[in-house]
Amino acid sequence: RAKAGGKGRFAFFEPSMHAEAVARLALEADLRAALEREELAISYQPIVTLQDATVIGVEALVRWEHPTRGSMKPADFVPVAEETGLITSIGAWVMQEACRRVAGWNAARVGAGQEPLTLTVNVSARQVYEPGFVDGVLEVLAETGFDAAQLLLEITESVLLDRPELARERFLALRDAGVRLAVDDFGTGYSALGYLQAFPIDTLKIDKSFVAGLRRGSGSQAALARTIVALGRALSLRTIAEGVEDEDQRIALRDAGCAFGQGFLFSGPLDPVAAEAMLVPRVARTRGKRALKLA
Ligand code: C2E
Ligand code: MG
Ligand code: MG
Ligand code: MG
Repeated sequence: RAKAGGKGRFAFFEPSMHAEAVARLALEADLRAALEREELAISYQPIVTLQDATVIGVEALVRWEHPTRGSMKPADFVPVAEETGLITSIGAWVMQEACRRVAGWNAARVGAGQEPLTLTVNVSARQVYEPGFVDGVLEVLAETGFDAAQLLLEITESVLLDRPELARERFLALRDAGVRLAVDDFGTGYSALGYLQAFPIDTLKIDKSFVAGLRRGSGSQAALARTIVALGRALSLRTIAEGVEDEDQRIALRDAGCAFGQGFLFSGPLDPVAAEAMLVPRVARTRGKRALKLA
């Protein structure tokens, strides 16, 4: 016993592992403070119709404007946030901030006779299984005035299959309130499909790895992408293709029957100012300014 413990301890203090652990602890401490220091930000990526690139919604993508490391992508800090549980407060902030922001844009759009935008928000397993998850989402909707019918939560397959009973109960409660559910990175996780009918799912997001190899009419990636779209249609699910980067991919997906897409061909993620300039009608945005000039 003592020997095994000693060995374990020896392995733990391996110098390279030590450096890694220290770097991780520093990142964790920084991240803990980031919320209070208001260093988190959200980029908004347009989601469009593949037929004519009309914007129908935006996906909220979190960023960390780190004081010394610069703008950090989720891959650099979301995993740490998930392990430490910080994702619960980060996720709550993203939900609140994105709903508040897009509620404002939608009021202006509807005032100008345009359709409101759908808002999609990524949600981690840790958030879903938090006791206050459902109430938290409902409170944000009430506080921000965001229409539940325009909110789409994105989860990965593993989130649902971790604790299926509990996940089902929570997403049914949200569905009852009008909130919809999308499966993100579809096709990269489990091969089981039965869960698609067990949960109140509305949308499949086709992972960009399938879209990447897609060219008009040929290739095995194309066959996989077409099969996912066909599966979606058979189950009356909407499909959104991720990572659409060129015109050939747009045509191939559209011809396969996929109605929606997002990707660099249309627009990358935008900061709130750029997103508002693109998505909110000019008249509604400049009304305040113009009134001031006339006065
Ligand atoms: P995701 O939900 O699959 O988001 C799509 C990712 O693809 C985004 O990366 C986006 O910038 C990128 N992307 C968009 N268009 C293209 C394209 O045409 N080509 C390519 N190659 N990539 C494209 P990003 O912003 O780095 O986000 C990475 C992941 O981090 C997201 O993947 C999502 O799973 C996670 N994430 C983002 N925001 C949040 C959040 O608020 N909470 C949680 N829990 N996870 C988040
Ligand atoms: Mg997503
Ligand atoms: Mg994702
Ligand atoms: Mg994805």
